[in-house]
Amino acid sequence: MSQDSRPVASGATPEDIAPRSVTSPPDATAPESPTLSRRRFLQGLGATAGIIAAGTIPALVSASASAEETAVGTAAEGFAPGVEENPLAEILHEDQPVNYPGHTTSYAPPPGKEKWAMVIDVKACVGCRKCVYGCMKENNIGRNSGFTYIQVLEMDQGSIDLETSNVNYVEGGRPDKWYLPVQCMHCMKPTCVYGCPVKATWRDPDGIVLIDYNKCIACRNCMVTCPYYARHFNWVEPEVPKNEINPDVPLEEKAGVVEKCTFCVQRTRNGKTTACVEACPVGARKFGDLNDPNSDVSVILRTRRAFRLKEELGSGPVIWYVG
Ligand code: SF4
Ligand code: SF4
Repeated sequence: MSQDSRPVASGATPEDIAPRSVTSPPDATAPESPTLSRRRFLQGLGATAGIIAAGTIPALVSASASAEETAVGTAAEGFAPGVEENPLAEILHEDQPVNYPGHTTSYAPPPGKEKWAMVIDVKACVGCRKCVYGCMKENNIGRNSGFTYIQVLEMDQGSIDLETSNVNYVEGGRPDKWYLPVQCMHCMKPTCVYGCPVKATWRDPDGIVLIDYNKCIACRNCMVTCPYYARHFNWVEPEVPKNEINPDVPLEEKAGVVEKCTFCVQRTRNGKTTACVEACPVGARKFGDLNDPNSDVSVILRTRRAFRLKEELGSGPVIWYVG
């Protein structure tokens, strides 16, 4: 379980709040199953879950917005007067530079004026976790690290009760369940960036939030300040089978630092899509440029009702959900 040092909601047990020694990994040998502390993640999502607990996914995307939908927020709601016809204009207007310029990493700099975003269709998602494994292989996630960048929550059909969701389900595709993949949301106002005391993490102009593993001092403040629990501390030297190492992604540098989804920066800045999009067998994931009106994400956000997790916090996540 890598999500220690977390603020926990009321009702936390002493185990939840007890400080852990850096030299005593909580469970470095844990199986590779998603180690996001489901309970804490769900506590974190509690506000949203509480708002929409009575709803259903069909209700979230129905043509007539309910009070619950409005509270959750949709891509087509809450825009300034005059921009209703073009929701993307408002999304891009929200996008303020919050990064610390001048960072250099082994990754190529953003090539153009792209503003990357993702849309996940929860109605299409079958919970197969191929995105999880595709991401793990692409991004040199240590097979011994005990976490994955993506988690998929399984819930009962007709319910959005995150409290009873299951990240450790054995097999997806159950007709009585639906699936909600979660990962770093690449927030426009990333609280993780604000939380880093040494500027080891930042948001690039194309919207990708990155970490310089050589600058990270392992204080884990970013983990505390991320409302999506999307960051993971690597307690071990990450192990990846030699024939599966991706030379385009750091490996050794990731021991003893914080990691997370990078929107596959090594691919997306070179004209490819993310590994999770490529791995998804049902096309539930779309990745693209909000500045391109013809990109999949732009078209979907213009034409379909969509919601974001914890939108009420104002961190401006750039992963939307439709269903
Ligand atoms: Fe940072 Fe968390 Fe937002 Fe990702 S989801 S950008 S880690 S605050
Ligand atoms: Fe869902 Fe696609 Fe991920 Fe499978 S690969 S869990 S269908 S998003």
